[in-house]
Amino acid sequence: MKIADSHAHLYDKKFNRDRGKVIQRAQKAKIGIIIVPSEDITSGKKALALANEHPELFYPAIGFHPHNTEKFNEEELKKELETGKYVAIGEIGLDYYYDRDVVDKQKEILKRQFEMALTFNLPVILHVRDAFMDIFQIIDEFPGLYGVFHCFTGTIEEVQEVLKRNFYVSFSGIITYKNAEKIREAARMVPPDRLLVETDSPYLSPMPMRGKRNEPSFIVHVIKKLSEITGIREEHLIETTYSNTQRLFKLNVGAT
Ligand SMILES: [Zn+2]
Repeated sequence: MKIADSHAHLYDKKFNRDRGKVIQRAQKAKIGIIIVPSEDITSGKKALALANEHPELFYPAIGFHPHNTEKFNEEELKKELETGKYVAIGEIGLDYYYDRDVVDKQKEILKRQFEMALTFNLPVILHVRDAFMDIFQIIDEFPGLYGVFHCFTGTIEEVQEVLKRNFYVSFSGIITYKNAEKIREAARMVPPDRLLVETDSPYLSPMPMRGKRNEPSFIVHVIKKLSEITGIREEHLIETTYSNTQRLFKLNVGAT
């Protein structure tokens, strides 16, 4: 029985000092899949380099994060995707928390990346902050688009909109935080076949590791909490989220 961490930025410089040990601890914790999303071309290439070193563990994704709209380069992104080495376009999305003044630019770039997801038949990894209504509207302009809302932090109403569109919902260590009752309520609404788990390493360490650098082996705390919240047995949750990750990202890896 193996675990899938559907979102970890293992190329981050916070791992430069001891990345090998972090990987060893992940494997010791029975993690069999780590999806490595990126934020721009440079980090995407780093994610790919990791996957080339450890093809049995890492699966890279590439895309322009809403904070990197000014770097957007369609040609370069296309060139990378044409290698056929990336399992998704991400993380991409809308984030109005810091940059409300570049809303139009974020939307435009998101649409161009959605276009590519359809062309390359790849899932999208979505980062959404304070922008759910807008992203639903844009998704509806792209029939056939599929993917995951990563690190979900929305409400019950918002998770229902996600599920209506047949997207997956990924939960991070945030569900272990005291003030996250709304998110836990949303988690209870998600049917098992739409659930994913993630660490979002090096960010968002789950309790009791909060405040430390996050790493994939800490996923066990997310799973434990999600099991408590949903009433789904831990082993079943591990199996289900693993096979959901395989299905969404079309990975050819063993189920055990
Ligand atoms: Zn991320």
